[in-house]
Amino acid sequence: MNYANMIEEKNLKKTFIIATLCSTLIGTFTSSMGLWDRINEKRKQKKIDYKQDDQIKELKEKVEKAEQRFNQQQNQFNNRQEDLGNNFHMSGAMIQRQYDEGYGRLGRRFAMGDTLTENQLQAQVISLQQAVITVLQDALYNDRQLSRADLSKLIAASNQARDGSLDALRQHQQRLALEAPPPRSLPSTSSSSTRSSSSLSADGLFCRYAIDLQTLPNKPLAADFAPGGRCRCPACGVRIDATADDFWKIGKRTPVLISENRLQKQVFENREFVLGQRFVIKCHTPDGQYACVLCNQFKDVDALCRSVESLVKHVGNFHSAEELSMDPDLRENRAVERRVSLPLPPPPMGSVTREKQVKEVVYR
Ligand SMILES: [Zn+2]
Ligand SMILES: [Zn+2]
Repeated sequence: MNYANMIEEKNLKKTFIIATLCSTLIGTFTSSMGLWDRINEKRKQKKIDYKQDDQIKELKEKVEKAEQRFNQQQNQFNNRQEDLGNNFHMSGAMIQRQYDEGYGRLGRRFAMGDTLTENQLQAQVISLQQAVITVLQDALYNDRQLSRADLSKLIAASNQARDGSLDALRQHQQRLALEAPPPRSLPSTSSSSTRSSSSLSADGLFCRYAIDLQTLPNKPLAADFAPGGRCRCPACGVRIDATADDFWKIGKRTPVLISENRLQKQVFENREFVLGQRFVIKCHTPDGQYACVLCNQFKDVDALCRSVESLVKHVGNFHSAEELSMDPDLRENRAVERRVSLPLPPPPMGSVTREKQVKEVVYR
């Protein structure tokens, strides 16, 4: 068995704790097999000597019967000893297999492990080494044969270490599988989309220039986006459907409870955010679509929109006022009266208006 490649470099041992511990466990089973083989060789030698002595006494019937009985017991004993060697071998192989399965499915994260798995495997290593190695070494160095009690103890310890380690590895694998974030998918908000949006990775979603604008909030827009410009992206060349004059207003109406004259009262809080050209450019993809930067930041799943209008509608409908307020390119209009007393019609989740003229303010 070659377990050396399990850990390629010494410095990896600190990081890949589970790989290291599995390697130690398998190594312990292998050493146990080696010690057992050496004891077995001595035992066979003694048995031959004993048989030679017996030949001298073969005329004595009682002794013969005793010998037969002894041989029967000895055969059972031999079977148990072979069981033990087999047990060590199988236990090591089973742990290797379980480790390989976990690593195959979960990769480096499985090999690195967590504190719980580390402690569980460490405990198995310690108890196996204590039970197995101590008994075998004691027998070997004191030149004594293993007693039945020794064998039973060893088989029990080997089984316990094997089962405990397999359980720990399986549980570790289950925990990691549950922890794993769901793969990011990109549902298009446009039902007419025929593109397979899931083929886009989260990392390769935005255009390079869009990412520049996301990470550098003070970066001025390229000249092409100035009033009268062609609105083409300097990186990917895609035309962005938002001019310097375009902006959209997103109204958010949220019911809030306030205390008035010691009584709780529900009022609606109105907030208004202005979405302009920069936000749209920040969302664009190299294939001319728009991925919501808020979803990218706050949600597990990205939203990909085919037009600027659907992007704006999405931002207004799917994101809370808190989320909107966190984007530097969604300016909040402070002039709006924040609180409106009841009664009001049922509040929409959000409302959106597009304005070509900045001075004109319409609220819906
Ligand atoms: Zn671009
Ligand atoms: Zn979104």
